[in-house]
Amino acid sequence: MKPMASRTEQLATLRSGRIWDVLIIGGGASGLGAAVDAAARGFSTLLLERGDFACGTSSRSTKLIHGGVRYLRQGDLALVRHALIERRRLLDNAGHLVHALPFIIPARSGFERLYYAAGLKLYDLLAGSSNLSPSRLLDRPQTLNALPGLNPLGLSGGVQYWDGQFDDARLAIALMRTAGDLGATCLNYLPVTGLLKTQGKVGGALAEDAETGESFELQARVVINATGVYADAVRRFDAPDAQSVLTPSQGIHLVLDADFLPGETALLIPKTEDGRVMFAIPWQGKVLLGTTDTERHDLPAEPQPFPEEVDFLLRTAAGFLRRAPQRSDIRSAFAGLRPLLHPEHDGKGGTAALSREHAVMVSAGGLVTVAGGKWTTYRLMAEQVIDRAAEVAGLESVPCPTANLKLHGWNGSDARLLAEMPGNEFKLHPALDLTEAMVRFACRHEAARSIEDIMARRSRALFLDARAAEACISRVGELVAEELCLTAEKVGQMVEIAKQSARQFQLG
Ligand SMILES: Cc1cc2nc3c(=O)[nH]c(=O)nc-3n(C[C@H](O)[C@H](O)[C@H](O)COP(=O)(O)OP(=O)(O)OC[C@H]3O[C@@H](n4cnc5c(N)ncnc54)[C@H](O)[C@@H]3O)c2cc1C
Repeated sequence: MKPMASRTEQLATLRSGRIWDVLIIGGGASGLGAAVDAAARGFSTLLLERGDFACGTSSRSTKLIHGGVRYLRQGDLALVRHALIERRRLLDNAGHLVHALPFIIPARSGFERLYYAAGLKLYDLLAGSSNLSPSRLLDRPQTLNALPGLNPLGLSGGVQYWDGQFDDARLAIALMRTAGDLGATCLNYLPVTGLLKTQGKVGGALAEDAETGESFELQARVVINATGVYADAVRRFDAPDAQSVLTPSQGIHLVLDADFLPGETALLIPKTEDGRVMFAIPWQGKVLLGTTDTERHDLPAEPQPFPEEVDFLLRTAAGFLRRAPQRSDIRSAFAGLRPLLHPEHDGKGGTAALSREHAVMVSAGGLVTVAGGKWTTYRLMAEQVIDRAAEVAGLESVPCPTANLKLHGWNGSDARLLAEMPGNEFKLHPALDLTEAMVRFACRHEAARSIEDIMARRSRALFLDARAAEACISRVGELVAEELCLTAEKVGQMVEIAKQSARQFQLG
């Protein structure tokens, strides 16, 4: 396996004065997918992320690689079909991070059962040869057998179907590594602060190393804005009066112990009091409850769940589970902001009714923006944005090669490397699968720069059990200090930031 270039080596390429073919702003699903695509076509590619990779929305999803059963109800068949094809591709290209998961929709009458069954047959049909396994009707005992945590009161039966589940932050890291393997330079903690323009045309970006304050003027044939909910702000670097194209919406998740929903099957609650769907999903030895849909425009970097969102999820879960979860049962809680496109209509349906489609836009100055979409369709979005960017920059026309491109680690290379590292026997907490070796590995091979990078995104400790994660912060700090040669003062600051973050994940 090719080792990852160090931060020092990568920063040196920024000082070389070269002209990059493609410069991408934003290291979430959209930006990292675009970096893989551009590098795979042979374009010299630079990606800059202002925080850590996937620190925004891309680590805060429901962790489903899915067509989206609820978009069927909205009649968004093209979106569902594209996403189902991408679901199959991800299972094939990143089998180490994505797997198939059974879901059940419980029904309270025979009519409901048939209604859901018909919808899911359409889901099967739209998937065509990409389908994972056919949906099927379940009677009451079969439903309760697969979902022993389900409240049996008034239950008639259910319908089972299949979708994909993944670890979102880990997939982002795999994309960053894949882009690096293909020759791209991807740097975290390098915010873009402005755009370079000559005669009205965007020709690069200004950036600053958040760790040292060093500033860079970077030239590029084309600049791609893949900054999620911040896309409007970056569009205004180019054109200060640019109209906004996004209606951001917050969604939150609560994490509970597995005994609230034992087994390996997820529950889809088909209609909540606000007319949405809600999931209870087994994930990494816990249960993930989510999500909500609350329009939000203040765009904090660390959005927090609103108390009414927490109450809503607990109340809805209580109506479907044998054991009603209480606030004190929450192991972790987190919020993310959806970069939803403005509706072409007047938007009276609220953000839940907005499409999860994506769009690629080019400004008069040539800034290419990719906005909207879903994790599931990141590859398709990347294909379209790089097609467009290549046109804008006048780059050679190269067909997109990513449909069958295996992602970094698919062949177990990283798992083998990790197994050989010292410290595998030292678990940092009985409730977490985090070892000293994983911390060292994340610093050496995965561009982790802080305790929080490791606790939130290289491992998912903060998302799974924030109190247990908090208990390991000091030890992780010592290991990070050793790996990155940090001063005691710097580590002390990191420990404080990580503790504050752990309290936020505990709704503190
Ligand atoms: C609650 C919720 C649940 C979801 N569940 C699912 C799901 O189950 N399945 C699914 O397919 N999709 C799901 N999604 C959608 C999916 O998570 C998003 O579509 C996707 O993560 C968006 O990725 P992005 O790269 O566009 O944005 P982001 O992940 O937010 O990335 C943008 C990045 O740009 C960076 N940035 C901003 N400004 C600058 C700057 N000036 N310089 C450098 N970097 C900058 C930010 O720090 C950020 O990391 C969900 C979304 C939410 C909110």
